[in-house]
Amino acid sequence: MSASNHTVDSGSSSRSRSEHPPSRCYCNQVAPLRTVRFNGGRNAGRAFYGCSGWPDSCGFLRWVDEVDELRDMEDKLMEAATENAELRLQIDQLERRVRELLNASKNKQEQIEELAIESDVMRERMYSAYADRKLLVFCVISWVMFFFSFYVEELAL
Ligand SMILES: [Zn+2]
Repeated sequence: MSASNHTVDSGSSSRSRSEHPPSRCYCNQVAPLRTVRFNGGRNAGRAFYGCSGWPDSCGFLRWVDEVDELRDMEDKLMEAATENAELRLQIDQLERRVRELLNASKNKQEQIEELAIESDVMRERMYSAYADRKLLVFCVISWVMFFFSFYVEELAL
């Protein structure tokens, strides 16, 4: 294709979707965005990054759709990496939570054991109080019977 088949503009017609740094050509100049204006051609209307010295250029040409495709893939890779890092973070948090819960359940287990010991002590105390009371009742009854037997003997006399 000769230069006369192409008219170029500074590229306001189509803009890159992504916010990446602009492409640089082989002369290390920012490659402006341009559109093929050659009507009827296979690439008519197709946007590209070309050398700023075009047509006397270093020959640098990148089709925007191809660049976008590449950048989309880069974006997706970055997203996947970010997602991966986030998942890693979530897993770390979950592991920490599990450890906390395990510790908490260990503490609960210890508390339960303490309560069991305490309840044993209480039961023993209750039994001894019950025994004391039985003794007291026994004393009272025997005292009443003793008194009553005297009373009966006195009545009999
Ligand atoms: Zn160049």
